[in-house]
Amino acid sequence: MVDLKRQYEKIKPEIDQAISDVINSTAFINGPAVKGFQEDLEKYLGVRHVIPCANGTDALQVAMMALGIKPGDEVITTNFTFIATAEVIALLGYVPVVVDVDPDTFNLDPEAVRRALTPKTRAIVPVHLFGQCADMDAMMEIAASNNLFIIEDACQAIGADYIFKDGSRKKAGTIGHVGCTSFFPSKNLGCYGDGGAIFTNDDELAKQLRVVVNHGMTVRYYHDFIGVNSRLDSIQAAVLKVKLAKLDEYAAARNRAADFYDNAFRNHPKLSIPARFERSNHVFHQYTLVTKDIDRNALQEFLATKDVPAMIYYPVPLHMQKAYLDPRYREGDFPVTEHLCRTVISLPMHTELDHDQLIHITSSVLEFVNA
Ligand SMILES: *Cc1c(COP(=O)(O)O)cnc(C)c1O
Repeated sequence: MVDLKRQYEKIKPEIDQAISDVINSTAFINGPAVKGFQEDLEKYLGVRHVIPCANGTDALQVAMMALGIKPGDEVITTNFTFIATAEVIALLGYVPVVVDVDPDTFNLDPEAVRRALTPKTRAIVPVHLFGQCADMDAMMEIAASNNLFIIEDACQAIGADYIFKDGSRKKAGTIGHVGCTSFFPSKNLGCYGDGGAIFTNDDELAKQLRVVVNHGMTVRYYHDFIGVNSRLDSIQAAVLKVKLAKLDEYAAARNRAADFYDNAFRNHPKLSIPARFERSNHVFHQYTLVTKDIDRNALQEFLATKDVPAMIYYPVPLHMQKAYLDPRYREGDFPVTEHLCRTVISLPMHTELDHDQLIHITSSVLEFVNA
């Protein structure tokens, strides 16, 4: 699904130098490499504060802790996402309230969010799924009129631009009260291990986020809050600093592959290409087709015989996951999400796809669907 080896080979001298500089400095934790990457990312995103942390799941957890959301409070999120989004909500003792998605963009449906509001709702977590922003005009409006926090899960959309109705632009993750991302190796900005970051323009909240990631410590060895230990290490930060400088180039490569796929599958009666939301550009973390009248799992198996990896993101909606079964929800309550879980398939998507690979992948897909 991704080719990190070829990507590394192209930037090997810079990466190897950056890593060996950290080793020679022995500043493995909170060293200048972390500060340097943090500042570069603040500049790139146009955000006042980037707080690095250990992974994307921690970023979400720390954001919720720093906002002072209390056990029993309800947090609304999408039913069609990676489990981490709902996991931290449940782990902190909040009540995850899942809602259905837009059938075209796969992102939170604003009307479904409005219907899920109760007096206990405290926050909404829009996920910018597969590399495209959710409808943030609507999310910010709902939050403002109901006094809620917006926590953006930008783990799949770093670098994407959201275009507001008035034409102004902001980077994914810098629109709500707080934004979260992951630097897992296969993410659009991936390191060579685990990593994550939290974004905010709120100076007070930034202070609190820095306290929470550092054991709730305000003054050394004085703990006013219960926190966590969540750090980005210096070697990962050094790798990320090199790769951040190439992020826009990488997004362009992903878009070229997506355009190739689009052209091969457009107007096919059995395949729907990913919709482009007019208020976001797309950084194609995933290229995901919706299939019609074909056995999606058989397509995946057929592609495997052609050495084409394909993945199902995601096969089971949150409300049908064993760990998250809830008497409030039953099968059929989320028709769009449930339909997508049965019909989507994601094709290889990364920065190194060449013409021959794209031809092989698209002709293999078409061989199956036209059979
Ligand atoms: C990857 C991902 C996460 C979690 O990131 P980790 O760094 O693996 O903890 C959270 N939410 C979404 C939508 C993701 O894709």
